[in-house]
Amino acid sequence: MKIVLLGPPGAGKGTQAKSISNRYSIPHISTGDIFRKNISENTPLGIEAKKHIDKGQLVPDEVTINMVKDRLQQDDCKNGYLLDGFPRTVNQAEALQEFLNSRNEDLDTALLIEVPTGFILERMTGRRVCPSCGASYHIKFNPPTAQGKCDVCGSDVIQRKDDTEETVSERLDVYERQTQPLIDFYKERNLLSTVDGTQAINEVFESICNILGSL
Ligand code: ADP
Ligand code: AMP
Repeated sequence: MKIVLLGPPGAGKGTQAKSISNRYSIPHISTGDIFRKNISENTPLGIEAKKHIDKGQLVPDEVTINMVKDRLQQDDCKNGYLLDGFPRTVNQAEALQEFLNSRNEDLDTALLIEVPTGFILERMTGRRVCPSCGASYHIKFNPPTAQGKCDVCGSDVIQRKDDTEETVSERLDVYERQTQPLIDFYKERNLLSTVDGTQAINEVFESICNILGSL
C-alpha cells in the first residue's frame, strides 16, 4: 500500500500515520520528522532546513525531493509506505509521480484529513511532542498519562518551536497557497479520498480503515 496523507498542519496526519503504519505494516515517512532529526544532529541538511522551518516556510523543493527519493529507495519501502507531510507543493507531487512512473508504480490513494481552519490553532498550540521517540500528544485532546512525560519512552514532552501562534498562522498561509492545490491534483487523477478529521482520534482512524479497506 502506498499512501500520501494530505491535510493542513494540525489535521492529525502524524497521529493517524502512527496507527496506519502499525495496522498495515508500512513505514511512516514524515518529512518533518526527518528534518527535525537532522536539525537535532546538526547535519548540513538540518542547518539548511532550520532556516525555513523556524519561519514557518517550506524547505526548498530540490532539497526535499532528493531527500524523499533517497528514503523511498530504502529496503523497508519495498512493500509500500505512508508519506506524511510530502508532497507539499505541486512540484513535489509531480516529482513523486515521475518517481513512481519510472518504477511502474502508482499510489493507492491520497488521503485528505479534512479539518476546518477554526480547529487548527487550538490543535497546534496544544500539541506536545516527544523529542526522543516522536510520539505526539495534545494537552487537552490526547494528554500523556503522566503529565509532561511521554507514554512510550518516559522522556519530557516539549512544544515544537514552530507551534507558536505566530508561526502557525504563517504555516496556514503557506498551506493554503502551496499545498491546497494538491487536492485538485489528486482529484483529477482519481486518487483522492477524504476523511472527516474533526471526529475523535479513534473515530478518524476507524473511518480511515474503512476507506483503505475498500480500495
Ligand atoms: P499534523 O501531523 O497533521 O500536523 P498531528 O497529528 O501532530 O497533526 O496533530 C496535531 C495536534 O492535534 C496534536 O496535538 C494531536 O494530538 C491533536 N489531534 C490529532 N487528531 C486529533 C483529533 N481527531 N481530535 C483532537 N485532537 C487531535
Ligand atoms: P511537519 O512536521 O509536517 O508539520 O513539518 C514541519 C516543517 O518542516 C514544515 O513547516 C516545513 O517547514 C518543513 N517541511 C516538512 N515537510 C516538507 C515538505 N514536503 N516540503 C517543504 N518543507 C517541508
